[in-house]
Amino acid sequence: MATLPIAGPSITQREIDYVTDAVTRCWYGQAGEYHERFERAVAEYLGVRFAVALPSCTSAIHLSLAALGVGPGDEVIVPELTWIASSAPISYVGAQPVFADVDRHTWCLSAEAFEARITERIKAAVVVDLYGNMPDMDAVRDVAERRGIPLIEDAAEAFGSQYNGQKAGSFGVTGVFSLHGSKTVTTGEGGLLVTDREDLYRRVLVLRDHGRRPGDTNFFNDKVAFKYKMSAMQAALGLAQVERAEELVEAKRRIFGWYREELADVPGLTFNPEPPGTRNSYWMTTVLVDPTLNLTKDRILAEMARNGIDGRPMFHPLSSLPAYAYTPAARTARESNPVAYELSPRGVNLPSALCLTRDQVARAAGEFRRIIAGEG
Ligand SMILES: *Cc1c(COP(=O)(O)O)cnc(C)c1O
Repeated sequence: MATLPIAGPSITQREIDYVTDAVTRCWYGQAGEYHERFERAVAEYLGVRFAVALPSCTSAIHLSLAALGVGPGDEVIVPELTWIASSAPISYVGAQPVFADVDRHTWCLSAEAFEARITERIKAAVVVDLYGNMPDMDAVRDVAERRGIPLIEDAAEAFGSQYNGQKAGSFGVTGVFSLHGSKTVTTGEGGLLVTDREDLYRRVLVLRDHGRRPGDTNFFNDKVAFKYKMSAMQAALGLAQVERAEELVEAKRRIFGWYREELADVPGLTFNPEPPGTRNSYWMTTVLVDPTLNLTKDRILAEMARNGIDGRPMFHPLSSLPAYAYTPAARTARESNPVAYELSPRGVNLPSALCLTRDQVARAAGEFRRIIAGEG
């Protein structure tokens, strides 16, 4: 039987038509047409003033930090439990990451841990909407505002999630999204930076185009900067996807609901939370396995792989990665960030690709149930 994929897109005739139109027509004077429509559709969907289409979420975080003026000698807070793309750009600008613990109930940055990590060297914080979950955004924003720390919201995994009726990605001074092929809304590779702040928006437009003003044809660069752009074909694909955003979120929520139903009677499992007042877009259906079951994610994933089920481990604490062995945090993080270290070894992402059918989810859930019961 074919392997059940962990992630992947939903592509319809609308995507094919827009991309075909872009590759046929969007050159010369029409080259920017789909970028404009895509960025406008994103801003409208999220309820923000400005959106910029970029080659990746990583570049969107890099530009956010650069536009905020974060540089050598500075430090930036990032949750311990996230993909390395949330923190790698901190090093690109010459600053240092400071890993803060997550909240046991949301799996996202803990407001208390965030506040406890603030020193005069902290110049920004990245808050991540992990797997579609929303952090306790009121509490996190309260700390950020009281202490004057700009928040970058990494909503790469949360397109369409909501908190008190407001869309994920609209809570920070900038919000960033990934449009990688594994994400809910995709352009194959791609990213977005959104903001309500016109000053940051203007700075980003210069920083992402080799330090020249938008529309400059005189090759007259104000500074050495970066080259972060998206092609018209990708913008066309993105427009079609954003027009279908609610449908894609519904599909993710359906997949999550199927797993909940199939595994409802299995004790010791905790699924992605959806606290009152939030909507989870469930990029990944994620399960925490109770410690009493004596199963680590590695063992579960090995059994799943043997049975053609493509799972993924919950992210490893960043401070435990060889990439961050050099940081002072790496020596003490296990004691300073106990929740991340406690959750990570027992978290598993189940196949959550948009192409999955009810029967396929039932098969994945059935294998998972057997593994949990020790019959793997
Ligand atoms: C996927 C992802 C990113 C990186 O996205 P790219 O588009 O690959 O740069 C960043 N942060 C989180 C939380 C992600 O899941």
